[in-house]
Amino acid sequence: MEATKPHIALLASPGMGHLIPVLELAKRLVSHQSSKVTVFIVATDHASIVSSQLLQPPAGSDGDDLLVVLLPFIDISDMVGSGVSYVRKIEATMLRSVLFFRIEISKMESRPTALVVDMFGTDALGVADEFNMLKFVFVTSNAWFFAYALHTTEIDIKEIDEHVKNRKPLKIPGCRPVMFEDTNETLLNYPNDPSYERFKDIFIKMSLTDGILMNTWDELEPTSLKALRDTRKVPIYPIGPLVRPIEKSVLCSGIMNWLNKQPEESVIYVSFGSGGTLSIQQVIELSWGLELSQQRFLWVIRPPTEKDAAGAFLTLTNGSDGNLDYLPDGFLARTHDRGLVVPMWAPQVEVLNHPSIGGFLTHCGWNSTLESIANGVPMIAWPLYAEQKMNANMLTEDIGASIQAAAMESDGLVTRGEIRSMIRKILVDHEGRNIRARIKELKNSAAKALAEGGSSYNILFQLAEICIQHLN
Ligand code: UDP
Repeated sequence: MEATKPHIALLASPGMGHLIPVLELAKRLVSHQSSKVTVFIVATDHASIVSSQLLQPPAGSDGDDLLVVLLPFIDISDMVGSGVSYVRKIEATMLRSVLFFRIEISKMESRPTALVVDMFGTDALGVADEFNMLKFVFVTSNAWFFAYALHTTEIDIKEIDEHVKNRKPLKIPGCRPVMFEDTNETLLNYPNDPSYERFKDIFIKMSLTDGILMNTWDELEPTSLKALRDTRKVPIYPIGPLVRPIEKSVLCSGIMNWLNKQPEESVIYVSFGSGGTLSIQQVIELSWGLELSQQRFLWVIRPPTEKDAAGAFLTLTNGSDGNLDYLPDGFLARTHDRGLVVPMWAPQVEVLNHPSIGGFLTHCGWNSTLESIANGVPMIAWPLYAEQKMNANMLTEDIGASIQAAAMESDGLVTRGEIRSMIRKILVDHEGRNIRARIKELKNSAAKALAEGGSSYNILFQLAEICIQHLN
């Protein structure tokens, strides 16, 4: 008789930073834990997701155990108006998606026993209650960020004032404190930001679930994970690092062919995630820094932006067609024998896995960070927004996997001289040798956590077991 398979539903909110780890979790539940999984995806662009390799069933499975349901995306731009943060827009979209999600669940003949949502999907947890499903939240970030975010929704206004107005570090029980410079936008705008109350609501809902999954692992964050387990009732499940596997089909692309011609660990890869942009002055400094470093580079470039009075990003140059006129005169010609500039997007996991890559200048999005660690690539941390400054601080000060710009100019510009010396330090200089050695240890630690019998592997197994018990 076939063993009972748990059926688990996953709900992914818009944005590659959420979709990629949610799909990776789905595939691991299918391939390693023999679960049946239905993934519900809320996304702006169904066509590009369907045409990508992202929805391919995991290797070795026949595809029947992984079902994907694309939910309609309601464009809420007109309703919320301009000047509303990206996060707020995702939340509003997700709130409107709950109805469609509920309809799909109610129609299912074999209903899932558990629901996993990401941090923006907590409104859907009511559907899990209605249909007697276990409920979990997948924090696609790390334990330190989660502990911080949770703590900020519980503390006294006076403590927030001390931190924001008097710039005192924010103490989080059992964890490293958060420096004022690394605080994310929600707290900085408190108490005037309406999203603070919304945040509170999300974290209350999260605390009442059957568990919090995180894209981290025990050996990477022992202190924060212990603090959470010691102080929280809700079970904590570190299941990472969940990183998208290599797609063989892109290995023969133009970028990969160029990398094939470069010596081992000689190239700095520069990318600011799926949406990060720089000002025009910063793009110019970065170009000069790359040129002056005299090192090889692969730069995924986006047209520069400036913020308008309301804080929204405006694209200065129409560069989405690949026009690179905003780069310094002659930059491309002077660096063509050792640099490749790629507009908008590169196959990042495959790039980081290539033997020629020796360093990653990154915005420290958590997926990019994990992809770098999993491939043993040391980082230059260049955080832009959201929790990226905390990630950069953790990587540089705590874990020893990156360096960070030491002297930010008063206008926030990182100078060409500093960029040049950071690139040389991470790739070639003697000073960077400890970081290069440390990242190899972390790569092994990440692989061990996910291998059979490793900490994250065992926790995923435990989750599948809990779902089976709920069935009976
Ligand atoms: N990514 C990619 N190519 C790019 C830019 C991004 O494949 O040119 C992928 C990257 O590998 C990662 C995700 O998009 O998996 C970005 O997630 P992250 O959390 O790093 O940053 P975000 O884009 O959410 O700020």
